[in-house]
Amino acid sequence: MKPSTLNTINTHILPRFEYFEPRSLGEALELLDKLGSEARILAGGTDLLVKMKTGALRPRYLINIKRIPGLRYIRVEEGYLRIGALTTWNDLEESPETALFPALLDAVKQMGGLQIRVMATIAGNLCNASPAADSAPPLLVYDAEVVLASVKGVRVVRLEEFFTGPGRTVMRENEMLIEVKVPLRKGSSAFIKLARTSMDLAIASAAVYAEFEGDVVRDVKIALGSVAPRPLRARRAETAVRGLRIGDPSLMDALEVVKEEVSPITDVRSTAWYRREVSKVLVYDALVKSFERAGGVRA
Ligand SMILES: Cc1cc2nc3c(=O)[nH]c(=O)nc-3n(C[C@H](O)[C@H](O)[C@H](O)COP(=O)(O)OP(=O)(O)OC[C@H]3O[C@@H](n4cnc5c(N)ncnc54)[C@H](O)[C@@H]3O)c2cc1C
Repeated sequence: MKPSTLNTINTHILPRFEYFEPRSLGEALELLDKLGSEARILAGGTDLLVKMKTGALRPRYLINIKRIPGLRYIRVEEGYLRIGALTTWNDLEESPETALFPALLDAVKQMGGLQIRVMATIAGNLCNASPAADSAPPLLVYDAEVVLASVKGVRVVRLEEFFTGPGRTVMRENEMLIEVKVPLRKGSSAFIKLARTSMDLAIASAAVYAEFEGDVVRDVKIALGSVAPRPLRARRAETAVRGLRIGDPSLMDALEVVKEEVSPITDVRSTAWYRREVSKVLVYDALVKSFERAGGVRA
């Protein structure tokens, strides 16, 4: 058999690993602590198993957390939407609470296909730390936090500080993300994803959270996906558009700064040039969509 044929076959075979199925959070955290960097948490497996099949990851131990009770929930409590580690994209789509966060709901509706959405978790999407992760831009504009647990206790990290690069986060090897906390907000929001098909990862994406007074942008938060090594909060663009009117031609000019804030790459899905150009337009469109959702009508 030619080596190339052998490689093709190998891409579909999982490497060997030892498998654990803890029945409590405590047991999972003990395992993570004991097995260290050679262990990986398995949630929906829609990122992890693909990476294992292609050989990009070869963990020695897999800790399947899906049998742990009490980690699959969506509740509104004490001013937060709280999303448990085992909550799937489909759970979010079916939950009435998600409607309180329109940008997140936009992302849920555009993520993969139903087969993926019923398996894949929001926590897994964040921990996988792809720059293209669809949940990241909406959660960034809502100032979400993640709750990380280990045998030593619990810490809360702002999502903006969570991602450190492609596939990398501040999570320690013995930590597990147990909850995403999203503060309730009174403003309007929207998320726009540009992709070949909804099954595909984003070429570029943008989320906006905004509060308006008439047609003036009073407060705004902007985040982008797939245009930098990690999902990005575009703070300079936020400053540039605050105080401007929707429909004012200077708004598009002010958003020119988005092109300086992003640092895209060329890959199979798009060129760096196109991503840079389209980022500004996506932010503009998401801002206008937020305005219209707030009941605003463009002059
Ligand atoms: C066909 C297809 C289409 C897709 N489309 C999209 C798309 O449109 N948009 C998009 O953003 N993604 C997409 N994805 C990627 C993937 O489905 C998502 O990122 C998904 O949310 C990952 O969740 P999971 O539960 O499957 O994670 P897993 O694959 O189980 O885990 C992913 C990573 O996170 C770690 N992990 C998981 N949970 C935890 C936790 N609680 N604490 C600590 N570490 C954890 C795992 O160890 C692993 O490293 C697609 C994937 C496929 C196969």
